[in-house]
Amino acid sequence: MFDRTLETLEPERLLGHQWRRFRGMAEELLASNQFVGRKWRAAGVRWVEDLRSWDDFRRLPLTEKEELVDDQTSNPPFGTNLTYPLERYVRVHQTSGTSGSPLRWLDTQESWEWWAHCWGFVLRGAGVGPADRVFFPFSFGLFIGFWAGFEGALALGALAIPGGGQDSPTRLAWMEALGATVLVCTPSYALHLAEVARERGIDLSKLPVRITVHAGEPGAGIPAVRARIEDGWGARAFDHGGMTEMGAYGYECTQQAGLHVNESEFIVEVIDPATAAPARDGELVLTNLGRVGSPVVRYRTGDHVRLAEAPCPCGRTFSRLEGGILGRLDDMLIVRGVNVFPAAIEGVVRRFPARSRSSERGSLTRSAFWSRSGTRLARRDCRRRCGRASASGSRWRRCRFAACRATS
Ligand SMILES: [Zn+2]
Repeated sequence: MFDRTLETLEPERLLGHQWRRFRGMAEELLASNQFVGRKWRAAGVRWVEDLRSWDDFRRLPLTEKEELVDDQTSNPPFGTNLTYPLERYVRVHQTSGTSGSPLRWLDTQESWEWWAHCWGFVLRGAGVGPADRVFFPFSFGLFIGFWAGFEGALALGALAIPGGGQDSPTRLAWMEALGATVLVCTPSYALHLAEVARERGIDLSKLPVRITVHAGEPGAGIPAVRARIEDGWGARAFDHGGMTEMGAYGYECTQQAGLHVNESEFIVEVIDPATAAPARDGELVLTNLGRVGSPVVRYRTGDHVRLAEAPCPCGRTFSRLEGGILGRLDDMLIVRGVNVFPAAIEGVVRRFPARSRSSERGSLTRSAFWSRSGTRLARRDCRRRCGRASASGSRWRRCRFAACRATS
């Protein structure tokens, strides 16, 4: 089912493939992408000839989400990370904005087709083929979510079934009536649908669903959650990694031994989050190679990952992340597939008059921040993450990660 020529490339040939793609993209970015051009020129890279080797690539500055948000705030509504004139773009999507700063992202026709191409790896990796009927219980709004997965199913030649605008019982009825064989949704919604089916006496094992594919939350990579989904649906559950601003980069093969990174379309690095030195266990940094109109180069995902050392039994040579995404380095919470920052929750709660004793107030951010990992970021690391200079004296406020004091 998978592309053996591409997905089992020898490492040297894979690096050569990536380098050709990256150099071609870099030439266009230096010519017309203001955001990338500014960053690279500040780092001494003015012409594509300045990029001669992978060492030069690794000297390129990392990109942080805050930079992209700040750029869009300063240059509304789409920012300056655009390689082409606006009329070249055909789609717009937006992150949830739960942190108070939604990120908008434009795609050209070519980059939208690239999204579908990347989802092909995800679906084929799980064993989905042209004969499948793929159901998408998704709202199909501004959030990119499973839009691209829908396109990927079409590109694969499968029957793609839109399941927006329906309640859960209706969705279950449609899946049964249309003979859906694959379900694509967040892990929590798969569990919810299974619960609705149980309450209504619907035996899901009698439905032809044989595969479920999940994104938006890390649940499908957690063995206990995966087991609950598989028990509920009588199907195999697969995890997938993707981001609005990056693309669909990670997928599971049928060995289910962690997430493969699609290295034909992405450059993967893992760094020590404090020093940015290469590491096996650390922060996932990605570069996409097929979204030239709105690229991200050396992007700090904030995701904690560990690179596998042993090759995958499936035969793919693409890098593999053991256990998938292990967590968020900034301890962001993910609720129903939507990113939630503790500081944003505090921002909402504080709009209401305090009703509790004063001793119980003022600690929501910190308690939420600590509750996930039992640790907090070292202040020096947080200052780097939140991008603000440290401050002392009277003019300071807590940064949005609640781990350091920063100038306001
Ligand atoms: Zn594999």
